[in-house]
Amino acid sequence: MKFALVTGGSRGIGRAICVKLAAQGYNILINYVSNEQAAQTTLAEVKALGVKAELIRFDVTDRESVRSALTSWYAQHAEDAIEILVNNSGIRQDNLMIWMQDDEWDKVIETSLGGFYNVTKQVVSEMIKGKYGRIINIVSLSGLKGLPGQTNYSAAKAAVIGATKALSQEVGRRGITVNAVAPGFIKTEMTEELDENQLKVNIPLRRFGTPEEVAALVGFLASPDAAYITGEIISINGGLYS
Ligand code: NDP
Repeated sequence: MKFALVTGGSRGIGRAICVKLAAQGYNILINYVSNEQAAQTTLAEVKALGVKAELIRFDVTDRESVRSALTSWYAQHAEDAIEILVNNSGIRQDNLMIWMQDDEWDKVIETSLGGFYNVTKQVVSEMIKGKYGRIINIVSLSGLKGLPGQTNYSAAKAAVIGATKALSQEVGRRGITVNAVAPGFIKTEMTEELDENQLKVNIPLRRFGTPEEVAALVGFLASPDAAYITGEIISINGGLYS
């Protein structure tokens, strides 16, 4: 059976991606770290679409726990493959550089960049054996443009953009594409304390985006129609960055 693994699939953009990929017929592995209740809600929504789904709990920053969770999943699923990997888990801990706490710097980098490495290293090795794979990294406008108060987050996302381009060149001949999606402001818990009314005046489309709009782009990149796209960073931001 063919599975899609979505890190941070319990809430927000990750949940919408799980639902979209399930609607496209993929069985879904929903990763989360702490919010069991939200993960259960995603699981129910995905199963309602008639595909198989499992929760797979690990902290993407914890290399050993990622390795043991994935190793045991592969051992129990000898006939199955993770064909799609969406590296979506991420956190923000904003602060001006002069006020930045060491743990704010470390945690944000470890979650986006460390998480990308910890999960992708193992999954891409298995994809190579199957000669097929789609890796989609959720980055950010912040990693392209740089946003004040987000040196940690901008650096983490920019690093994943670089890794996306490098890895796409390493694995293209193995039938694996690697792309990134760079959202602007999307309505999730991550942005709930932001003032949309104030910020939307700078967005040409005059609103925040929805998780479902991001999921539609990820669904396209995961589909056969996107077979010749690799190494790309695709923005979805209402025209904010252009
Ligand atoms: P949310 O805060 O709504 O959800 C974050 C998700 O990441 C949750 O599923 C959470 O799991 C998971 N997560 C956090 N830390 C870890 C960890 N250490 N290990 C495993 N999972 C973890 O965020 P969004 O949906 O808004 O964001 C999703 C992605 O999109 C992130 O990478 C974010 O940086 C990016 N993005 C978001 C934008 C926005 O405007 N919302 C804009 C640009 C990019 P749990 O539920 O268990 O806590």
